Amino acid sequence: MITASTVSDYQEAFLRLFYPSYCGLCGTFLEIHEKHLCRTCLDQVASRRHLQEETLLTKRYPPLKEAWALYPYEGPIRDILKAVKFQKKRWLLHVFNEAIDEWCQSVLGETSYDCLIPIPLSRKRNLEREFNQAEIIAGKISRITGIPVVRNLLAKKFSSHPQSDLGREERLANVWNSFKMTAKRKYPAKSVLLVDDILTTGATAQEAAECLQAEGIRHIGFLALAHTEMES
Ligand SMILES: [Zn+2]
Repeated sequence: MITASTVSDYQEAFLRLFYPSYCGLCGTFLEIHEKHLCRTCLDQVASRRHLQEETLLTKRYPPLKEAWALYPYEGPIRDILKAVKFQKKRWLLHVFNEAIDEWCQSVLGETSYDCLIPIPLSRKRNLEREFNQAEIIAGKISRITGIPVVRNLLAKKFSSHPQSDLGREERLANVWNSFKMTAKRKYPAKSVLLVDDILTTGATAQEAAECLQAEGIRHIGFLALAHTEMES
């Protein structure tokens, strides 16, 4: 019997004759049922994912009330996030859809946030990169949960060096006083989830949270796709 899925399989096979797809990590030719990554790379990504109960980090990052990460920043996770940023392969973020969806169902069902705020890029970096990966991740969460994304409340004042290139002291100095509020009036949110791709020392997240706290926002959480530091 010819079903809708068989037809779309044929369509996909036909398209791939002319536009072959390759794994976004290892470059292997993708089979018809594979998308973005080959099975081997996808398995490596899946095997690194934190269990749901491990996503809440035990390390504290005041004034953040809580911080979550879905993966350690290592191996294929690091390679994907670098390819997103530096090779503009934004479509590779789709690889994390299932993990984001399951995290939202399990965590955001119980924790209420008024809005999602992606950690902003400076204007210069935004122009260079053409997109903000934190906005893409926040957009995914918003589509699943219905929690709105607020883009224009927090702004990056200047372009800092990528945090991953620096030591701890340099990182803290690098982000000090680097965010500002853009709204003239107080934003009515009481509870905000900051969103970013990577949590390194937490300095960026803490700096952004302090900025929001100064505006009277009391409950600030943070979600990163991946975190670099081991729990202490
Ligand atoms: Zn691969």
